[in-house]
Amino acid sequence: VPEKRYLFTPGPTPVPPEVLAILAEPIIHHRGPDFRRTYGRCLERLKAVCRAEQPVLLFTSSGTGAFESAVANLTAPGDRALVVSAGYFGERWASMASAFGADLVHVRYAWGETPDPDDLRTALADAGGAKAVYLTHSETSTGVVADVQALAAAARDAGALVVVDAVSSLGAIPLETDAWGIDVTVSGSQKALMTPPGLAFCSVSSGALAAARAGGATRYVLDWERTRAGQELLDAPFTPAVSLVRALDVALGLLLDEGLEAAFERHVRLGRACREGVKAMGLELFSPDEDRSAVVTAIRAPDGVDVAELLLTLRDRFGVQLIGGQGELKGKIFRIGHIGWFDVFDIATALAALELALAEAGAEIERGIAVTAALETYSSGARV
Ligand SMILES: *Cc1c(COP(=O)(O)O)cnc(C)c1O
Repeated sequence: VPEKRYLFTPGPTPVPPEVLAILAEPIIHHRGPDFRRTYGRCLERLKAVCRAEQPVLLFTSSGTGAFESAVANLTAPGDRALVVSAGYFGERWASMASAFGADLVHVRYAWGETPDPDDLRTALADAGGAKAVYLTHSETSTGVVADVQALAAAARDAGALVVVDAVSSLGAIPLETDAWGIDVTVSGSQKALMTPPGLAFCSVSSGALAAARAGGATRYVLDWERTRAGQELLDAPFTPAVSLVRALDVALGLLLDEGLEAAFERHVRLGRACREGVKAMGLELFSPDEDRSAVVTAIRAPDGVDVAELLLTLRDRFGVQLIGGQGELKGKIFRIGHIGWFDVFDIATALAALELALAEAGAEIERGIAVTAALETYSSGARV
């Protein structure tokens, strides 16, 4: 029999069969009526998921392409950009803003810390404002979910445009683009949206569109106005990844059928189940032990355990793919993702395999204890 593989990473994530099936269909032309219908519906569904009235601009790229569209459209060389970072992806905003020649103000936290809106207020006051503030909602490298609503309010109060990396959070945990005053919500297809990698998008407010028209850096493919004008006529400026757009449309339909609130609730329970299982096994969490942290559970490497070896064992012996730490956390933590097409049996499988692999590495773990804790936590809907 073919080896069965289990993907428990915070991107890419498992893709439901209904979505995979669309990818096997013949290619259709991107200017034909059937694709236009799908394109239009997909763009509307993206607005619903972002909870935004303004258009969502879709690019054929990994998530970082939509990051780059934000920086290129909003930040000309010399423009002041404020970045709040507390991990790998926040640092990506900073390095990208620098690459575009921004006058960078970097509010930089240690990896794993939770940004404080008061620090942002102070930094903006000290700097005399900024054209745009770049934030990270779910910092996938640490498991921390920032209070983006409060951070966005601080940025708006200082007159800045608010840009949020919601790549791993959109569709998994609450995010209100309009209600929280977010100008630009950036995300991608391959996380909670249950679609293969390859599409990136950002919801863009009228203020952000106006700022982009008036300035920004050199860009062409990622130009917001060109993209917006094409999308308005359902006539993409360049050939989109047709099959991926069709797949994303199906996946968004599944998510909206479940209901965003139901999906958020499911993710909270999955996060709780995973954390309780990890703790029951005697492991130490790196990510916060709080409901908000429902995207990815980060676990400290137990003493004497080589993370790379542990992950290889899990993958090669059991077909279970977890992921290690990024950047400075490499070798220090490993992570279990639980966004998108996940249920509690995925958590149970990840924990059971982890238990086996650790026991083989010599750890003293009571067999089955993590799985039991996870299942009980999930079904009780509360902490055990
Ligand atoms: C996955 C991810 C990204 C984007 O990564 P790509 O590899 O470019 O798709 C950005 N930010 C966060 C928080 C992520 O989790």
